[in-house]
Amino acid sequence: MNDGAISMEVIKNPSEMQAIADKIRQTKRIGLVPTMGALHKGHISLIESAKKETDFVVVSIFVNPIQFGPTEDYKSYPRPYDEDQKILEDLGVDLLFFPFAIDLYPNPQTTFINIRGLENLLCGKIRKRHFKGVLTVVAKLFNITKPHSAFFGQKDYQQALMIRVMTNELNFDVRIRVLPTIREEDGLAISSRNIYLSDDERRKASILYLSLKEAEKLLKKGEKPISIVERQKLLIEREGLIPDYFEIADPETLKPVDGLGSGAVIIVAAKIGKTRLIDNLIVQ
Ligand code: AMP
Repeated sequence: MNDGAISMEVIKNPSEMQAIADKIRQTKRIGLVPTMGALHKGHISLIESAKKETDFVVVSIFVNPIQFGPTEDYKSYPRPYDEDQKILEDLGVDLLFFPFAIDLYPNPQTTFINIRGLENLLCGKIRKRHFKGVLTVVAKLFNITKPHSAFFGQKDYQQALMIRVMTNELNFDVRIRVLPTIREEDGLAISSRNIYLSDDERRKASILYLSLKEAEKLLKKGEKPISIVERQKLLIEREGLIPDYFEIADPETLKPVDGLGSGAVIIVAAKIGKTRLIDNLIVQ
């Protein structure tokens, strides 16, 4: 094992990873950045925060089959492994945990984590079983890589919230860090799925961030969420996108709010062609 950070270790086997994590934890703080690969500036910002805040950075790359629905893009999800490995080496990541599905699910999984109340809202309403798959794999990754801190993006607001709730309620000894969304120049949240967009779709996709900013402005002016939501949905539709939802919600319960109150999250998911994009803004 190379503890001297001369080159990045790549580990596939969960038991081997656990043994390494045990050893590292004796002297260092472990930071975990879970990803599905196809790395971009959003992932890189999480890795850079992990490097600042911890002593040994583990990045996992795992396209998790149990969080994809039968008609979703599990098979076609981008897997540019060589490029990803090079990015991680250049960033000075200490260890890449890169299991095969058979390593994490040697038998069909029968134990799952659910959060009653949150799992069927927003994305959960449309992507049945998605969060159950996400929470279950994150719990496994925590138990395998034994991090002191784990780093997630605000871009996936509902996911980050649910991971926080799971961590608290199941007493995982892991500090959850949620970091700001990294965006393209026109505001589009960077995502591994943006490569699916045609040039025309890519131009139109910037409406999502514009609609969030507009909603924020109106909310701060005191306009009622219900009318803001209707207007922003129309705006998005006019650009040719099909909104799954546009909500102004309580940041903790994700239930719709009827005013700004002590804070809200404006949250959107929409399809453009075959690609589904999500984004959000927290308003204080
Ligand atoms: P993924 O590989 O899409 O599962 O994402 C891995 C992690 O990166 C998750 O915690 C995401 O929320 C985070 N992430 C994805 N896109 C961005 C972005 N544009 N800015 C910040 N974090 C992001």
